[in-house]
Amino acid sequence: MSKDEENKGTQRQDGTIVYSSETEGKRGIIFPSPIFGPIHSRRLGVSLGVNLLPGDGKVCSFDCIYCECGYNKSFPPHQKFPTRTSVRQALQAKLQEMKEKGPEPDVITFAGNGEPTMHPRFADIIDDVILLRNEYFPEAKISVLSNATRIFRQDVFDALLKVDNNILKIDTINPAYIRMVDRPISTQYNVEKIVSRMAEFQGKCIVQTMFLKGTHKGKDVSNISDEFVLPWLEAIQRIRPSEVMIYTIDRTTPSPFLEKATPAELDNIGDRVQSLGIPCQVSY
Ligand code: SF4
Repeated sequence: MSKDEENKGTQRQDGTIVYSSETEGKRGIIFPSPIFGPIHSRRLGVSLGVNLLPGDGKVCSFDCIYCECGYNKSFPPHQKFPTRTSVRQALQAKLQEMKEKGPEPDVITFAGNGEPTMHPRFADIIDDVILLRNEYFPEAKISVLSNATRIFRQDVFDALLKVDNNILKIDTINPAYIRMVDRPISTQYNVEKIVSRMAEFQGKCIVQTMFLKGTHKGKDVSNISDEFVLPWLEAIQRIRPSEVMIYTIDRTTPSPFLEKATPAELDNIGDRVQSLGIPCQVSY
């Protein structure tokens, strides 16, 4: 592939653009906005994606070294956030099409090119999506994948309480590890406060955690040892989520020397969550 093709990326039939550069941080997938999919997954079934970020780049309050969209600075957007109206209209048109031709969605998932709660009208859009879901596919669940950085905003907190699956990322509670792997943009990020705020959902949340191994810039990034898992389990106990989802890297990552946690390592951690009386879903 030429340098030019690497930089432009390759557009797939589904509208996603895949960048496969050899340069660190510059490989990733940029999703169309505001609607993408549906994607068929073994775990979620038929998932229709809502991407509240611009369709030509990434916007996130984290900059994870494993992010499937690549590093923030590699894909700065030129477009704006989609408007509330355009999200509602595009979703309605897609749901109408799915009603007529199928497939029926099992879940409407807020995900895509970054952190969905950064959209300034996030709470209003949640209300719109709930109304549309109720009208077209009342059985479908609504899921939001968030890194939890904006849950201190009352409007975001209240909106997340309304969805079926309020899925909040917390990879560890070790501040140095968070700075190295999740790389929050704000220097104010405080994991202790995030854990306390997550507990205020009173069980109406799902914790999602990435376990991985390997190195980043020569430093070990494994978070599967007791040094990381034990304090994380304590945080899980404080939050008491309805469920925990643990997973590992799946696709090519922007940081080149990351490795998957093995199924046995993930199962071991999953068993320890279950022993707290909290269901745990493990994806390899
Ligand atoms: S929080 Fe999610 S979208 Fe944001 S950088 Fe991390 S993996 Fe990517």
